[in-house]
Amino acid sequence: MLSFFMPHDHHDEDAHSLLPSEPALRVKALETILVQKGLIDPAAVDAIIDRYEHHIGPQIGAGLIARAWSDPAFKAQLVNNTDGILSDLGFGGRQGEHIVVVENTPDCHNLVVCTLCSCYPWPVLGVPPAWYKSDAYRSRAVREPRQVLAEFGVIIPPEQKIRVWDSTAEIRYLVLPMQPAQSLGLDESELALWVNRNAMIGTGLPQPPAET
Ligand code: FE
Repeated sequence: MLSFFMPHDHHDEDAHSLLPSEPALRVKALETILVQKGLIDPAAVDAIIDRYEHHIGPQIGAGLIARAWSDPAFKAQLVNNTDGILSDLGFGGRQGEHIVVVENTPDCHNLVVCTLCSCYPWPVLGVPPAWYKSDAYRSRAVREPRQVLAEFGVIIPPEQKIRVWDSTAEIRYLVLPMQPAQSLGLDESELALWVNRNAMIGTGLPQPPAET
């Protein structure tokens, strides 16, 4: 069954792959019209795309979490003055006007969803993964978070409650995971490698780098 998807098996694919997907075509058409009307500068659009493709991603959030684990004063700032800290560090902007940091504790695991669409803290996590935008995740994360987490491989003990945060256009959430005991004593740059994207959405836990 799997061989159907193998790269060498592409008799019919070549013809299809010549054309971009429909959303890509529509985006291209829109861009062409906006450029022709002089409403946007293609170089500015390229710069924004390059920024989100190559510069803005979960490594930014991971750096913040690692620093919070290493420095209690920074952690207090990150939790209590999130917008101020992010703006000082240059991580404000699109889709991140109000970011709220929610801290996991032995009593409470935090999980982030956007039930309405796909609101997400772009400046610290980059572009959201496809599953974050799926109907299944958006509806089930609220109804049966414990089951959804189990499907992500995260088993939450019964005594730990799960708090689900519904992102909106105004508020985006970033999960501050608990630092794994095995990572105690590592420096900030090593710790950052333990923090994966899902751990900051709540659908994962920090992992040793080799297992991520
Ligand atoms: Fe949304």
